[in-house]
Amino acid sequence: MLVNMEEIFDKLNENEAVLHFNINNLEWTKYILEVAREENTSVILGVSESAIKYMGGYKTVYNLVSGLVLDLNIKIPVVLHLDHGHSIESCKKAIDAGFTSVMIDASSLPLSENIEITKQVAYYAKTKNVTVEAELGSMDAYQKTNPKEVKEFVLKTGIDALAPSIGNAHGIYKGEVRLDIPLILEIAKMVDIPLVLHGGTGIPDSQIKDAIKSGIKKININTELQTSWAGAVREYIINNKDVYDPRKIISSGEIELKNKVKEKIRLCKNNNI
Ligand SMILES: [Zn+2]
Repeated sequence: MLVNMEEIFDKLNENEAVLHFNINNLEWTKYILEVAREENTSVILGVSESAIKYMGGYKTVYNLVSGLVLDLNIKIPVVLHLDHGHSIESCKKAIDAGFTSVMIDASSLPLSENIEITKQVAYYAKTKNVTVEAELGSMDAYQKTNPKEVKEFVLKTGIDALAPSIGNAHGIYKGEVRLDIPLILEIAKMVDIPLVLHGGTGIPDSQIKDAIKSGIKKININTELQTSWAGAVREYIINNKDVYDPRKIISSGEIELKNKVKEKIRLCKNNNI
């Protein structure tokens, strides 16, 4: 069942976060949906602009996800979410194609422009019952969110979820990760919308749990799925030089990817906190 993020956030228990996993192809989508069903939990499928381009386009991604939900008879709530949309245009394309949620990332621009662009996306999304996430501060520039800007940003834009920059980063962390838990707490107190943790790969479990206790409601995992899958596929190819069936090659990473998805889902569930 495809739903927007609000429907998932509304049903989360205290000290619980929903997982956002990035998808790259049919196989990953299928594996993630199967594990989420096994674990009886809702899931957010995030797709970046480059992954959408890789897979063929917005409509193709929508058809792929909605087709799998139907064919696999998936009953758990599933969100199809544009990850880091960098323009109003790409957010509109996703919304028009059937995505149930989008992220507009204008965080590299000055605050006033970030507000203006985000507001326009949120306005359009509301008319289609699509939820909107936006970024304040810049993770990629290692620029932490200024708590003084948070209230104004959330109020003026009308977003449904906020991705603050709190010592997190995308990809593989260089050196020790130190999330700014006091900053998460401070931001969470100021707003009544869920907070999102990007760059979930490589953050120690104890810090993930502390972040959830402090107000994080959505955790994005991308790189860790890639490294798990790639490691398994690499080993399979090295050990099976005669295999050329693409289905065997691609699915040789299925178990590792599924185990990683399961591990992250269990980490963020209430009973494990
Ligand atoms: Zn991100």
